[in-house]
Amino acid sequence: TGALDVAAVRADFPILAETIGGAPLVYLDSAATSQKPRAVLDAERDFLAHGNAAVHRGAHTLAAEATELFEDARATVAAFVGAAGESLVWTSGATAALNLVAAAIGNASIDGSRYGLTAGDEIVVTEAEHHANLIPWQQLAARTGAVLRHIPVREDGTLDLEAGGRLIGERTRVVAFAHVSNVLGIVNPVAELVALAHAVGALTVLDACQSAPHLPVDLPALGVDLAAFSGHKMLGPYGIGVLYGRSEVLDALPAVLTGGSMVTTVTLDRAEFLPAPQKFEAGTQPVSQAIALAAAVRYLDALGMPAVHAHERMLERRMRDGLHRIDGIRLLGDAAADRVALCAFEVAGVHAHDVGQVLDDRGIAVRVGHHCAQPLHRRFGVTATVRASASVFTTADEVDAFLDAVSGVRAFFGVSR
Ligand code: PMP
Repeated sequence: TGALDVAAVRADFPILAETIGGAPLVYLDSAATSQKPRAVLDAERDFLAHGNAAVHRGAHTLAAEATELFEDARATVAAFVGAAGESLVWTSGATAALNLVAAAIGNASIDGSRYGLTAGDEIVVTEAEHHANLIPWQQLAARTGAVLRHIPVREDGTLDLEAGGRLIGERTRVVAFAHVSNVLGIVNPVAELVALAHAVGALTVLDACQSAPHLPVDLPALGVDLAAFSGHKMLGPYGIGVLYGRSEVLDALPAVLTGGSMVTTVTLDRAEFLPAPQKFEAGTQPVSQAIALAAAVRYLDALGMPAVHAHERMLERRMRDGLHRIDGIRLLGDAAADRVALCAFEVAGVHAHDVGQVLDDRGIAVRVGHHCAQPLHRRFGVTATVRASASVFTTADEVDAFLDAVSGVRAFFGVSR
């Protein structure tokens, strides 16, 4: 596949026909949640209308077909990140997947089993994490007596790997970090962090929420032990996400939720569990959402992830270059680096929420606030930023409309300097 045919892509997204107060919608909030192409909407509806049945049960034809579609979806989504179906656990989203990992390690700590923590062990995260990849580790540390440490972020937004190298040591048991921060947009050096972690035998946990929708991602090649991402950020539905794990790690980690569908023999006193991934999938699964997520990754695969990344790189440069030319803009983490199309910035003298309001008046949708990364905002001395993030359907003209609106913000509020 060559360059993206953005006009054709746009025709696939029904929501792009919407107007906001009379202006065409310019959707620059894909990092919060992406819009959905018709193929995804159709896949979910078609399954519910024509194929719905409980999977892994039932002797009837519809149940067998539903099971096949569900397991095909697992293989399809796994292949999208270079993995085999067995290494993919369905969850309700990245938050659920990251909490699942932390809770499983918590259970291993109680059992005294492999990957369990004891007091004084260390968990390393970065200063740039989304709360979803921070608070579960805070909780795990509090529960086990482990110590939580963080790799600092430099002024330019890159991770301080020298400090990371000093932090990751003999007591480090877990190193958890984002592939791409949802505020900085910079692609982090996964291989270097994995090498540091594996040199001391620590587990690596990758938050791939902001990379899987935008870059070619091969999780086994990256060498991470575990990874999480969310369907709704990658053109898929809500209520579905993924925990990827190397089979050795998934096999060793204890179950967290227990109940139906994850067992072999159950007596009144005890239960035998199925192997992973079923061991982590207690209860009825989000079947229609899984099938629709498979449609989303097929859609992205048909565009070609290298083409998606190239298109978004072009938009990212245009956005960043344009913001550099506007007075009073401070971009968070402005390093020249491999990036996704995402910029978070402050406008001097104007609150982020007011910037958002001015843009909304022109139909331009951006996110304002701390983007669930309060420690990172604190590190940069700000409480709120404006974040614009693009997707496969975003055009250069839309970026220009956004830049034009931002360039008028300070005058609108009568801010000089
Ligand atoms: N990590 C990152 C980097 C994110 O951007 C998000 C979503 N904002 C999450 C984790 C959490 O994802 P979800 O809310 O879909 O569980």
